[in-house]
Amino acid sequence: MSSIEQTSEQLADADVDHATETAQAFLEEFEDAMLREDAAAAAEMFCPTSYWRDLVAFTWNIKTVENPSGVEDMLEETLAHIGPSTFKLTEPAEEEDGIITAWFTFETEVGRGEGVVRLKDGGAWTFLTALTELKGYEEPKGRNRLKGTEQVADQERNPWTNLREEELENLGYTEQPHTVIIGGGQGGIALGARLRQLGVPTIIVEKNDRPGDSWRNRYKGLALHDPVWYDHLPYIKFPDNWPVFSPKDKLGDWLEMYTRVMELNYWSKTEATNARYDEEAGTWEIEVNRDGEELVLRPQELVMATGMSGKPNVPDLSGEERFNGEVHHSSEHPGPDEKYEGKSVVVVGSNNSAHDICEGLWEVGADVTMVQRSSTCVIKTESILEHGLGDLYSERAVENGIDTHRADMIFASVPYRIMNEFEKPKYDKIREIDSEFYDALEDAGFWTDFGPDESGLFMKYLRRGSGYYIDTGASQLIIDGEIDMAHGQVTEFTEDAILLEDGTELPANLVVCATGFGSMNHWVADLIDEETARQAGKVWGVGSDTPKDPGPWEGEQRNMWKPTQVEHLWFHGGNLHQSRHYSLYLGLQLKARYEGIPTPMYGRQEVHHEGI
Ligand SMILES: Cc1cc2nc3c(=O)[nH]c(=O)nc-3n(C[C@H](O)[C@H](O)[C@H](O)COP(=O)(O)OP(=O)(O)OC[C@H]3O[C@@H](n4cnc5c(N)ncnc54)[C@H](O)[C@@H]3O)c2cc1C
Repeated sequence: MSSIEQTSEQLADADVDHATETAQAFLEEFEDAMLREDAAAAAEMFCPTSYWRDLVAFTWNIKTVENPSGVEDMLEETLAHIGPSTFKLTEPAEEEDGIITAWFTFETEVGRGEGVVRLKDGGAWTFLTALTELKGYEEPKGRNRLKGTEQVADQERNPWTNLREEELENLGYTEQPHTVIIGGGQGGIALGARLRQLGVPTIIVEKNDRPGDSWRNRYKGLALHDPVWYDHLPYIKFPDNWPVFSPKDKLGDWLEMYTRVMELNYWSKTEATNARYDEEAGTWEIEVNRDGEELVLRPQELVMATGMSGKPNVPDLSGEERFNGEVHHSSEHPGPDEKYEGKSVVVVGSNNSAHDICEGLWEVGADVTMVQRSSTCVIKTESILEHGLGDLYSERAVENGIDTHRADMIFASVPYRIMNEFEKPKYDKIREIDSEFYDALEDAGFWTDFGPDESGLFMKYLRRGSGYYIDTGASQLIIDGEIDMAHGQVTEFTEDAILLEDGTELPANLVVCATGFGSMNHWVADLIDEETARQAGKVWGVGSDTPKDPGPWEGEQRNMWKPTQVEHLWFHGGNLHQSRHYSLYLGLQLKARYEGIPTPMYGRQEVHHEGI
């Protein structure tokens, strides 16, 4: 990855020329094969082991095909209707360690796109194509921005404010939205902003009182674990004075401000209670309760943005009725309330939330025990900033000319199949640098790991969305014995304790189950029905055949941002980086449907796991 981060100035002219010439020749030959609709010739230009990742441009899907055979199959099916052309380098190519990296743009019949290719031994090793806009439906921005008003006197003038008020009054009542997004957390908000810019009438339905409440309602001590450079929303970046780790309430306020200035049709205090697809009408029927008013929304497309950390996993423990203390899931934990001072607290779980909650409770003087069932990938914050994200998302990256969009594209250009190989060296380095820290944690009885193939935290996130902690202070408390450790499966409650399967008794006034969250299609089961949830299948994971991410290999995140097995039903979410970047591709897919642009899809994912 470092080759593409290098600027052309850092390379000798001769290198740039060779790299650029090679990349130019590749793109010309490739385009020629495309124009001849010669899938076999184009496929031959790929290395025997190679990856083409397409974000909506060729496949109307998010899809990675592998090796010349996969490329040929995809092109056989797509070339005739996609009509790719006009491949152009956008900057000099770069060469490092025998790999040439080149950035390019291209066109299809209906859109414009951008891409990144890595050439090895004369062939394409990795190839990314991404749709950026639809011809004739470009976003009104930059030179195309809206005027906001006409500079001529007009007695019929309908000012912006009136138009906006009319929209707020009518949408959902006298006019139906094309798309309804259920869930107005950061995911629903980012997608809502994209659709707003693309002119797709959309309503975001959110049961909380205010935008941003999904963060505000979490425990008091919470701040983002990812740094600010990784977290920008589409269109409006955090200002330069924003803290590196956004405190949760500050982020909540930002999201609230964002919904207002981006003029999103955001229905807070509105719960979606039921949904079904009306085949005859070709629309969804979504029952919502808007602050006491019962309504039915009839959009053509329904997006579930209800949060991958949405539906709590709660362990099935016997004897809870006889337990005299308090029990709640981490998502209901109010924060390090002073009422827990001097109390015995058991936190079940050993990932991010468990650590944050233990730390917060220790700070108010509780006697805290963490129960760990399996090992955790712990990374010190400064190490992940420096060695994990720093090349792409940091002040250093910004100074090196890597803005958010470029960083997102670099990130997206690494195929999931080999991402672990890109990630592993970073974590090998971290393990070496922080070896004393890891030894101290193990000595304190805390089990650590770096993932099943040593590829670290981010791969765990992509595969299972759990199993890690970005250390913000709790690890030192464990090392110092301030947070006690216990191990094993919790089984039952007594009147004043929780028991582990080996019989260990942990006295407790409060038990917090920081035991994670289920697959997002649980929300579909609740809202639509179980059959539809099974049909859609498990959400998240790439089929790596590692713990909590069963095979077979999928190549992309299950069900995220792309067509599912249930027509007109979509899933959106992920961390702020993913919500920002992939909202563009989901937005374009929805826009094409809104405008009636054909979207012949290649390689719809199969469902291998029902996930409920
Ligand atoms: C300790 C900790 C640290 C974290 N750090 C980071 C970080 O640094 N960066 C990051 O990106 N993420 C972080 N996360 C993860 C973060 O929680 C998710 O990334 C984020 O919440 C996902 O946003 P979302 O919009 O997809 O879902 P949510 O924020 O969960 O939003 C879903 C929304 O759907 C609403 N909803 C659900 N059902 C309905 C319904 N039927 N009707 C109406 N509304 C409904 C809910 O009220 C909720 O507001 C962290 C989480 C924890 C616990």
